Amino acid sequence: MITTYIDHPLRDLNSFHVEERAARIIEFDRKEDLDEIFAEGNAPEKWAVLGGGNNILFTQHYDGTLIHPTGKGIERLQDGSASARVRVDAGVEWDDFVQWCVERELWGAENLSLIPGSVGAAPVQNIGAYGAEARDIIDQVHYFDTLQRKHLTLSNEECRFGYRDSIFKGELRGRAIITAVDFTLGTTVSPSLRYGDVQQQVEERGGATLRNIREAVCSIRQTKLPDTSVLGNAGSFFKNPIVPCAVAKSLQQENEGMPIYPASDDSLRKLAAGWLIDKAGLKGLRMGKVGVHDRQALVLVNHGGATGGEVMALARYVQAKVKEKFGIEIETEVNIW
Ligand SMILES: Cc1cc2nc3c(=O)[nH]c(=O)nc-3n(C[C@H](O)[C@H](O)[C@H](O)COP(=O)(O)OP(=O)(O)OC[C@H]3O[C@@H](n4cnc5c(N)ncnc54)[C@H](O)[C@@H]3O)c2cc1C
Repeated sequence: MITTYIDHPLRDLNSFHVEERAARIIEFDRKEDLDEIFAEGNAPEKWAVLGGGNNILFTQHYDGTLIHPTGKGIERLQDGSASARVRVDAGVEWDDFVQWCVERELWGAENLSLIPGSVGAAPVQNIGAYGAEARDIIDQVHYFDTLQRKHLTLSNEECRFGYRDSIFKGELRGRAIITAVDFTLGTTVSPSLRYGDVQQQVEERGGATLRNIREAVCSIRQTKLPDTSVLGNAGSFFKNPIVPCAVAKSLQQENEGMPIYPASDDSLRKLAAGWLIDKAGLKGLRMGKVGVHDRQALVLVNHGGATGGEVMALARYVQAKVKEKFGIEIETEVNIW
């Protein structure tokens, strides 16, 4: 079914809760609806996909059409000896899918518990947390190509997943609407407890069962991250910078206790943007209606009534201060519209 809203407020459709509007929002729940929405002569001129709005900062009214998938199907496709394949519609809440897996003893999604947003958005930035990434369990991504007006499928490899990155942020940006994702999940016990906090909390709960891991991850996230319904935010505002190994080592020598993590390439290292912001003296900073969260410096927050422009002014200030202190550029992870 297709539902259209004209001149619609966005306040409740973005986790920063900024008060912008969209000229038009079109909701659809079946992939065939996209053939109609993008039929020749009928296709919207300017459009973008809006999932749950948990990774978007609106800095102005959106004067085009926001396409919003609402399909909620989860279907078990087939089981191998040690795995199960599951097809999930783009409109399913990511965490509902994780819960669904945990209830069925399917392994692989549990470390990604409580990440806000839709399943359709998960491949876009290859969501990740606590040593796991969506790419570890994604088998295929089904999408509508608005240029070719065709329904197509990409394999995991073809999605070109990287750290908070994929083909949907590159070549297929502004072209692909993800309609469903196929996942391969484990049917045998395979916990991944590389992150200290998770390991400890799982042990306190009695060991590495799926339920204990999910509970531990949810509990850690709830302690560390502000609740978007209370304090508008989009989670990590900046990406962790990836730098040459030599740069990381020299910075670590100058700054005692600076954490460094491995990156995909052995000649590179990942730095913790939150640590850099904290050590630049910005944790808890408040600038009018916006601020840097006082428990997690990577998170910028709307204390109430802020515009997207005010959040961006703070973001630029944070970037400048980190550059001044460490000589490191931190890029935004959030999509700025
Ligand atoms: C409190 C909080 C904590 C967070 N923690 C994490 C975390 O631990 N790890 C992490 O990786 N992220 C985290 N995030 C970011 C966010 O949860 C993810 O980016 C999530 O995937 C956003 O989903 P969404 O449906 O809200 O997408 P949106 O914010 O609506 O969209 C994000 C981008 O994806 C595109 N998009 C959305 N749906 C589709 C689709 N069906 N087809 C094509 N493009 C689409 C949009 O056009 C946009 O470019 C956090 C956010 C918050 C608010």
